[in-house]
Amino acid sequence: MLASLAAAAVVAATSPATAPAGPLARVARPLTGVVVNIDPGHNPGNAAHASLINRIVHAGPIRKACDTAGASTNTGYPEWKFTLQLSTRVARRLRAQGATVTFTHALNTPAWGPCITQRAAIGNRADVAISIHADGAPAAARGFHVIRPAYVPRYTGDILRRSNLLAVQVRDSLRALHGIPVSTYAGHAGIDTRADLGGLTLSNVPKVFVEHGNMRNVADARLLASPREQERTAAALVAALVRWHRAG
Ligand SMILES: [Zn+2]
Repeated sequence: MLASLAAAAVVAATSPATAPAGPLARVARPLTGVVVNIDPGHNPGNAAHASLINRIVHAGPIRKACDTAGASTNTGYPEWKFTLQLSTRVARRLRAQGATVTFTHALNTPAWGPCITQRAAIGNRADVAISIHADGAPAAARGFHVIRPAYVPRYTGDILRRSNLLAVQVRDSLRALHGIPVSTYAGHAGIDTRADLGGLTLSNVPKVFVEHGNMRNVADARLLASPREQERTAAALVAALVRWHRAG
């Protein structure tokens, strides 16, 4: 079911009939030929399927829960909704740049999950992957951070260099927005490095997580829920991917 959903996403993402073809398209649309996987963190059905998403899976050398329910703002705007809204905006802009876009899941399909192992497996069929989240930290903490994979022997050595380059491009793009500030509580200068995220450890393609703010902080929450800010954020993420791709 997941494979067919991913295939449907690929079909839906193919270029519109009006798109220019051939070398000209490559010049005009810098992500032509690039497959980008977007992983919207969590799923609206996770909370109702606790026993399934709490199941323990092998995330490389460690064991983790299959997935989690995610965070929420104090006014009840859930992380899964934010991640789907931002992911949809990013996908639209990526396709305009020529990319083929796949998702690890779409709204309500599947009804829960998928597990972090499956999210990584779907991402591995793309050229690059980005996982979109927002955090649930103490209310006084603010800001976004980008998470890159740590070195995990036998797992991440092959993706470290290009994942790090992607993390720097994404951090620079988000910082230049002067919207949600660089994190006051995680990582260093907006970049964290983690060995405990299955979605990163199991990736065979360059990948980062974006934690685009603290949902429990009132100022961050307002910006996270803003359609205008989401659109600015989507543009910044796509610009970062274009720069990363050009850098090789
Ligand atoms: Zn999350």
